[in-house]
Amino acid sequence: MLDHLSFTAPQPKTIAGAKQDWELVIGLEVHAQVASKAKLFSGASTGFGAEPNSHVAFVDAAMPGMLPVINEFCVAQAVRTGLGLKAAINLWSAFDRKNYFYPDLPQGYQISQLYHPIVGEGEVIVDMAPGVARRVRIERIHLEQDAGKSIHDMDPNMSFVDLNRTGVALMEIVSRPDIRGPEEAAAYVAKLRQIMRYLGTCDGNMQNGNLRADVNVSVCAPGAYERYQETQDFSHLGTRCEIKNMNSLRFIQAAIEYEARRQIAIIEDGGAVVQETRLYDPDRGETRSMRSKEEAHDYRYFPDPDLLPLEIEQAWVDDIARVMPELPDEKKARFVQELGLSEYDAGVLTAEVENADFFEAVARGRDGKQAANWVINELFGRLNKEGLTVETSPVSAAQLGGVIDLIAKGDISGKIAKDLFEILWTEGGDPAQIVESRGMKQVTDMGAIEKAVDDIIAANPAQVEKARANPKLAGWFVGQVLKATGGKANPAAVNELVARKLGM
Ligand code: ADP
Ligand code: MG
Repeated sequence: MLDHLSFTAPQPKTIAGAKQDWELVIGLEVHAQVASKAKLFSGASTGFGAEPNSHVAFVDAAMPGMLPVINEFCVAQAVRTGLGLKAAINLWSAFDRKNYFYPDLPQGYQISQLYHPIVGEGEVIVDMAPGVARRVRIERIHLEQDAGKSIHDMDPNMSFVDLNRTGVALMEIVSRPDIRGPEEAAAYVAKLRQIMRYLGTCDGNMQNGNLRADVNVSVCAPGAYERYQETQDFSHLGTRCEIKNMNSLRFIQAAIEYEARRQIAIIEDGGAVVQETRLYDPDRGETRSMRSKEEAHDYRYFPDPDLLPLEIEQAWVDDIARVMPELPDEKKARFVQELGLSEYDAGVLTAEVENADFFEAVARGRDGKQAANWVINELFGRLNKEGLTVETSPVSAAQLGGVIDLIAKGDISGKIAKDLFEILWTEGGDPAQIVESRGMKQVTDMGAIEKAVDDIIAANPAQVEKARANPKLAGWFVGQVLKATGGKANPAAVNELVARKLGM
């Protein structure tokens, strides 16, 4: 099904140091907030932007004696995501406590899955260019709780804590270190976001922090990565640093670039990269140390005694698999193979699930290529210009489909169709009725066109002489006829008539 794609080997970004060339190796831990109205272990709301501490159940606030109860819907969302990444679903998984102290973590631990995650190995097909793709391996996806939020900028002497986010379900999606450059990293996150938005398992809103990534970066000499690939032995790779909590594709790329150059400078200076957690400062375009391995937390992971292991049945997984939506890769392949769209157009139309749905509503029962042209060039062009989306589009899929039908029937020309689109955009209405009531119908009545041609020839004898001597000038007559008929005459018919009447 994906044979329209050509898969490339990893394309490492090479950076020339002062002494030698270096290649980048990147692995991502993406935190995706599960699209769910309730939290992972409580019924409290996950609504964004609410009054601080208004969405907090007793168990989220770690009140004594409160017990977590797993939210089945969140588990189903993780399974859906796993299936979407063609990953192994583990029917037996378990929750562990990751212990650390932080003011926004009232429990004193985060419930996560270290030893037995719910989803195992999978893969993501990352689109590099139209028709060119790469596979990035997924190591695991586990379910865990989000922490709360400390607020330091409301008072000069005090900090505040908002627990609304505490206990919200996250999926942590861990990749293998298969990403080889900043653009690939951004394309990988974009693809994960796209797949989860199709699945409805995460809204992908990076601005609100609902999708964020910890980016692990190391550098190595050319050839080292291939030795790692053959042996899966990490000692062939360089020491990595982890850049925490990135929620912008642009900053992810800038941070990787900066971090790789920083590491190269250290190594070429005879030093060694220290494994540590770093933060990216977008104002300075730099990463800086947050904590080193020595100061790293000792999380003292252990199985959470309040929660039984999570056992799910294959039949339940199969039920979820049966109602999976068509995913972007499959949709794109279908658009290319069945509708004859170019790889590029199919990519544009499937980028956002809402756009794909809109296009399909326009294309249903119509010519796919023509529908794609109208949706991409006219509609998307206009929406972009005015800062709108298909959801806020003044022209609906049904209206656009109506325009295409009128062209297909020969009622209107492509040129008139653009005028009609303009009317629909500003005034709305039914396309067929507008064409009828405003007399926009293309003149296919040959008698009427012929009369117009005759009139213009009769009125311009000098032009007729010139055109007979130089056939290129016949275009002038065609233009005059189209003008006389208000652009409604069928241009092909006019061309032919003019040539015949001029005796060419
Ligand atoms: P930890 O548990 O210490 O965070 P993991 O083994 O879970 O370590 O790895 C975290 C992430 O770092 C994974 O995405 C992995 O692919 C990536 N990674 C591991 N080694 C390297 C490396 N040498 N260079 C770049 N990324 C790496
Ligand atoms: Mg990790």
